[in-house]
Amino acid sequence: MKTAGNTVNEIDPTLAAPDLVRWPIASRGGRSVTPTAPQSQVLFLAGMGRSGTTLLERVLGETTTMAPLGEVLHLWVRGIVDDNLCGCGQPFSACPFWTDVGERAFGGWSQVDVERLRWLRGQVDRSIRVVRTARRHPSRAVLRLIEEYAGHYAALYAAAGDVSGRPWVIDSSKQASLPFCLAHVPQIRLRVVHCVRDPRAVAHAWTKSVPRPEVQGGEATMPTYGSWELAAMWTVHNAELTMLQHLGVPRLRVRYEDLADDPITQIGRVADLLGVRPDKPVSADRTVQLTASHTCAGNPGRFQTGLTQITRDDAWRREMPRAKRALVTAFTAPLLMAYGYGRDGR
Ligand SMILES: [Zn+2]
Repeated sequence: MKTAGNTVNEIDPTLAAPDLVRWPIASRGGRSVTPTAPQSQVLFLAGMGRSGTTLLERVLGETTTMAPLGEVLHLWVRGIVDDNLCGCGQPFSACPFWTDVGERAFGGWSQVDVERLRWLRGQVDRSIRVVRTARRHPSRAVLRLIEEYAGHYAALYAAAGDVSGRPWVIDSSKQASLPFCLAHVPQIRLRVVHCVRDPRAVAHAWTKSVPRPEVQGGEATMPTYGSWELAAMWTVHNAELTMLQHLGVPRLRVRYEDLADDPITQIGRVADLLGVRPDKPVSADRTVQLTASHTCAGNPGRFQTGLTQITRDDAWRREMPRAKRALVTAFTAPLLMAYGYGRDGR
């Protein structure tokens, strides 16, 4: 894992705050205010993209105890600035759920200084920053940045919990560095599910061009990655999440393959982690009735509704070139074995 040498625990002097006058970031009527929030209960879905987080969030979102929010990490830009589509099909600005959440949390989305949040993210919510945020007791300067940054998430989660009427909200942001920030905020009762999938399947999935239907007026697609790049990203991302143990965050690992093969058992494991009654939204034949939900960003699968059959996507076994498969296997071998995946893909 890359670190920044002995400068990693200092505030990066090359990154100037875009507007220190407006510290802290939210302002109403010329008065600066720091978002405050009551206690909220948050299930954070972490893991490399295409590892089953969308499937897990959709299924859990059909229970009576959890409200799926999508990838909140991207709400600030894709929702507030770009006005992408919510999972309900409405533009973010027209969605009644998110409008209500924004009013309760911040007095309206226009009160959120997105540029300041972007800057804060660069300071505390990047892989390279985990070395500073993974400490139980970060420096006072770092802690102030974390509290300001994660305070916005706390306010949003609490408001979303109130509006949804469900005791837990699900943030499927995936980004490994974010829960390290959330763990330092006492208003957030945090639980993490670490989703993993065979890296060869993940690498194969990221070679395909996937459209982003939530972008209005354009033909946007998700990025693609080569095998080397993906194998490195998969290793760093998953290794990073193991460091959450330093902060004592209760967490659970769910393999995509186990989720697809036996979703009822995996839902029960998550329910145990949260201490809630395990609803059973999935039938014994692995079908689930998906309803529209207010997910602010994420995989195109968040728009799917209706009766859906859960099946394992193993296309990589047929389609992935042998050389690329061998490369990804070799590069990811230590964690691949630790997660129970064989070198031969079994
Ligand atoms: Zn909506």
